[in-house]
Formats: sequence, C-alpha cells, structure tokens
Amino acid sequence: MEYKRLGKSGLQVSRLSLGSWLTFGKQIKNNIAEDLMTLAYEKGVNFFDNAEAYAGGGSEEIMGDILKKKGWSRDSYIVSSKTFWGLKGLQDSLPTQKGLHRKHLVEACHGALKRFKLDYLDLFYCHRADKNVPIEEVVWTMHNLVQQGKVLYWGTSEWSAQEIMEAHMVAKQYNLIGPIVEQPQYNMFHRDKVEVEFAQIYKTVGLGTTIWSPLASGLLTGKYNDGFPEGTRLGINGLEWLKDQALAEEKINKVKQLTKLASELGTSMPLLALAWCLKNENVSTVILGASKLNQLEENFKSLEVKESLTKEIMEQIESILDNKPIAPPF
Ligand code: NDP
Repeated sequence: MEYKRLGKSGLQVSRLSLGSWLTFGKQIKNNIAEDLMTLAYEKGVNFFDNAEAYAGGGSEEIMGDILKKKGWSRDSYIVSSKTFWGLKGLQDSLPTQKGLHRKHLVEACHGALKRFKLDYLDLFYCHRADKNVPIEEVVWTMHNLVQQGKVLYWGTSEWSAQEIMEAHMVAKQYNLIGPIVEQPQYNMFHRDKVEVEFAQIYKTVGLGTTIWSPLASGLLTGKYNDGFPEGTRLGINGLEWLKDQALAEEKINKVKQLTKLASELGTSMPLLALAWCLKNENVSTVILGASKLNQLEENFKSLEVKESLTKEIMEQIESILDNKPIAPPF
C-alpha cells in the first residue's frame, strides 16, 4: 500500500480506502461488510469512509460493530462521518435534524460517535454546503469539536472552491482550525472540480482530496457495455436517478473503447479506471466501493496498473474520453 499526506495536514492516508455508501446496511449482508473491511485492512487500507445518511445511520453501526469485533488498534485506522442530510434524508428530517447549523453539527457528531462506539472521529465532513447557515457558525462549530477532542480533522464534500476559501478566510480571521480536505466525485467522466476548479487551492490552502465514485457507480467497470446485468447497483429500486445519469449512450460507447484498450494493455476496465484516478497526484485517496469480495481483491491491483500508465497510454485514454476540462485563460 502507498500512503500520502492528506493535503498539507500531517495525516497519512492510504491511497486506496473503503467506503460504505449503498452497500453496508443495504445491498450487502453484514458478514460481507466484515470480509470487505478485513481484506482492506490486511491490504494496508487505513481509511474507512462513512456518513450519517448511509442506511439511515445503519452503515455507521455496522462499521462500528466490525471495528469492535476486529479489535484493531484505534491508532491504526482513520474513520470518518459526514453530516448535512440528516439521518432520514433531507425530505423527512426536521429542520433541526439536518443542515450545518451548530445544533445539527454537534448532535450529528455525538450521534456518529454513539453509532460507531468510538471516542472520536478522525475526519468529520460537511456533506454539502448549507446556504442557510453563516460560514462563521460552521467553522466555529467544527473548530470547537476539534478542540473538544471529538474530531481530529474536518473537511467538506461537494463544496465549491469559493466556499472552501470562505471557510479558510473565516478560520484565518478568528485563528480557528480550518478544513483540510474536500470529498468530491472524481472519475473519467467527472473531472472539472478536481482538475480545474481546485487547481489553485491545492497549492494555497494545501487541500487534500478523498475522491468518491471512482468507477461512476460501476459504469467504468464495463459491466453495462452489453445490456443490464442482474444484481448490480444500477438495478436497485429507488436508484433510477443514478441509472439515468450513468447509462448515457455516449458514455457507454467510450467505456467500450476503453475496455478494448484495457484488454490490449493486459488489464481490466475497472483497474484502468481506478489507476487513472490514482495517477492524479492531487488525489490523496481513492475511496473504493464494493459489493463483493472479489471486486475488492481485483481493485487493489490498480496500484500496480498505475505504474504502467505511461504518458502515451494516458494520451490514448484522453483521446477516447475527449472530455479534458479546460482551465480559463486567466
Ligand atoms: P464506485 O464508483 O467505485 O462504485 C462502486 C461499485 O461498483 C461497487 O459497489 C460495485 O457495485 C461496483 N464495482 C466495484 N468494483 C468492481 C469490480 N472490480 N468489478 C465489477 N464491479 C465493481 O464507488 P462508490 O460510488 O461506491 O463510492 C465509493 C465511496 O465514496 C462510497 O462508499 C462512499 O464512502 C463515498 N461516497 C461519497 C459521496 C459524497 O457525497 N461524499 C457520494 C458517494 C459515495 P455492484 O456490484 O453493485 O455493481
């Protein structure tokens, strides 16, 4: 396993990590979740990603049970939670039970600690920006949670560069602890934020990134190239919105060409897609998702595939993707 500093913080995170969205407490049984975490930990993964909204808090409970059962030393892993949506989702949570106001941030932190059965969270994310809460309130609350020892580092997810900078300006103004990390979507089809929008703030504020959906929910494995396989994420009831987003004809055509390239290179489509993400040095860690142990086993080989991605191969991929985000001229 390779490790990398999470932005300019001193925290060393494994370049591959494991997440639990839609899997823990939903798509997979708890014994599979345990097998996935065990394999990941044995392979050197030190970061497990979670959120209050995953399975309505159930994902944190399951992960907490597994951590307790395994008895791994608390100083050997990093665990995260995120808040914004509320346990019941935006629609069904009361105004006091969601968002980034002080009441919900504090209660969400306490709730996550209880569900995990842990004394502190290593990382606590604002799962989205909240236009109804002053940024000063968010930064002060996160700073206080850090001061109280309930959280070690805090970050954002799907915030714009401007929103992240506003948080840093407030932190600087009041001498508070600012965010160290952003969790954006990043994959071959979703590139703008990571490659262009954040380009400056990797340098200025030393932003780290823990990227999500590196396989675009499975589209970038090639499994949807020739029809719709049973028992996969995009077939789950209630996820029609995700299926519609993912399975555009133009994208499938590109994945078919990439799958051919992967096979010419002697690798697989998922490994090519993950290695491509790892190749970006501004990506601190790629959060893997898996519904089966053999998927996770395969995905670890992406670290080796990354080493074989020469400039020429990256250019071949670029010409198939034909979606390189353009930075503004000034
Ligand atoms: P991916 O895009 O990598 O999708 C993972 C899914 O792809 C698996 O569950 C599996 O689904 C399929 N898959 C993975 N590997 C293989 C393989 N080798 N062969 C075939 N199929 C494979 O990542 P996720 O969307 O799961 O995101 C990763 C993590 O990021 C989440 O668990 C969560 O922690 C975080 N996240 C954060 C968000 C945020 O807003 N901050 C939003 C979303 C995720 P299946 O078997 O069902 O086809």
